[in-house]
Amino acid sequence: NKLKTSLNKTRTNLIGGIDRVLTSFKKPDEEFFEEMEDVLLSADVGIKTTMELIDELRDHCKNNKILSADDIKDFFKKNLAEHFSSQNNELSVAEGGPTVILVCGVNGVGKTTTIGKLTNVLKADGKKVLLVAADTFRAAAIEQLKIWGERNKVDVISHQMGSDPSAVIFDGMQAAKSRKVDYVICDTAGRLHSKVNLMEELKKIKRVIQKEIPNGPHESLLVLDGTTGQNAIMQANAFKEATDLTGVVLTKLDGTAKGGIVIAINRELNIPIKYIGIGEQIDDLKPFNGSEFADALFD
Ligand code: GDP
Repeated sequence: NKLKTSLNKTRTNLIGGIDRVLTSFKKPDEEFFEEMEDVLLSADVGIKTTMELIDELRDHCKNNKILSADDIKDFFKKNLAEHFSSQNNELSVAEGGPTVILVCGVNGVGKTTTIGKLTNVLKADGKKVLLVAADTFRAAAIEQLKIWGERNKVDVISHQMGSDPSAVIFDGMQAAKSRKVDYVICDTAGRLHSKVNLMEELKKIKRVIQKEIPNGPHESLLVLDGTTGQNAIMQANAFKEATDLTGVVLTKLDGTAKGGIVIAINRELNIPIKYIGIGEQIDDLKPFNGSEFADALFD
């Protein structure tokens, strides 16, 4: 299965590491906990989440007098699956009008690609989709989105580079209503160097959307690059300050050994992971399912 294969490096690093520590497991002593801690940190589970997990593991060991290596592995798997399953990973859908999805994230994380893939998912489901190129900061971003529009055979609303993002959003919302689309997906610029600007721009964009489509945006998705490890958490916190996020899309999980970031995002951000990117192709976006993910990782 593709998910499992794409997680190979993370499996080797994280699960292989846990297995390695467990081969010589006799009793849960300090050395054992420290070794486990090192494994989690090396797979980018992050310091905060690692400490929490180790504390929970300590409790688990205290409460269970007879412990085997299998029990401990089971502890990790169950712990993961339970955490994940408490979140709502479905996309919200508008009643009646078009569903508006705002997509943000810093340059290079895979934002445009994700929009292209998501369009493909929605189209396969028989939905009519419109794209809006509101990242007017980079000419390449507009061009890229147009290419994904062609690939998916959907329209792209765009203005010239450097124009006001809210103006293209306004046009996009008008077009979404008049063309009666089911989904309108808006690309936005992700300039983190000026948090105030980012905040103001996103606020303005949301105001325009709300004025045209009540209750919109129905989803504000943040795209994060899984290969950047703890950096992704920092980006997420910055965007969380700037705007209300409804979900995360975690890209590039294929070929990274830092997949432990999924666990850190899940625990530290309190924003559900809605999709994961596991490749560069159009069909390499998967709805995130916690127990499926835990299975792919551990089994
Ligand atoms: P943007 O600047 O955030 O819009 O980023 P792009 O969508 O242009 O993507 C940047 C690069 O990451 C491109 O080369 C994409 O093909 C690649 N990419 C995006 N998502 C994935 C993914 O899930 N897996 C892999 N391996 N590459 C990805």
